[in-house]
Amino acid sequence: MPTIRPLYTEAQIAHRIKELGAQIRKDHGDAPITFIGVLKGSFMFLADLVRAVDGDATIEFLGVASYHGGTHSSGVVQITQDLRSSIEGRHCVLVEDIVDTGLTMDYLLRMLEVRGPKSLRVASLLDKPENREVEVRVDYAGFTIPNEFVVGYGLDLGELYRNLPFIGVYQP
Ligand code: 5GP
Repeated sequence: MPTIRPLYTEAQIAHRIKELGAQIRKDHGDAPITFIGVLKGSFMFLADLVRAVDGDATIEFLGVASYHGGTHSSGVVQITQDLRSSIEGRHCVLVEDIVDTGLTMDYLLRMLEVRGPKSLRVASLLDKPENREVEVRVDYAGFTIPNEFVVGYGLDLGELYRNLPFIGVYQP
């Protein structure tokens, strides 16, 4: 029977997201911010993060598939849903659940930069730097974690566990 060893509680996540939200607003002054959530993993983080940011914000989604149901990155990034609006001239924050090898983020940043945003920063709930294959900047990282496979709070394994309110390590 697989078990999930709790890593961060709901309360710890909520507290950290409030800090990230305040920092994001501070860094952008009064400017409107476009938050770009990377589906599906970031949906819960995005929902809580935007509520922790005061002032004007708009929400966009990017659909990306990279894992195909396993626990190891395929290194192939597939766009399953593009943005519905232009980001030209806008301050943007790309919102990810986790940066692991960095391949997904690297690909997305290149793809978005050419669309001419005024600024483009990265918020990731989790950062797993041990496994990095390409250098990517994470401007706002919730928690830095060791190289273990985590689920919950939006993160899945084979589409399961996204609904867990906490983050835990999957133990097969
Ligand atoms: P990267 O391209 O940085 O290797 O991986 C990014 C994507 O892989 C994340 O958006 C996430 O969907 C998935 N991923 C990486 N590590 C984990 C993990 O520990 N747990 C889960 N559920 N997904 C992960």
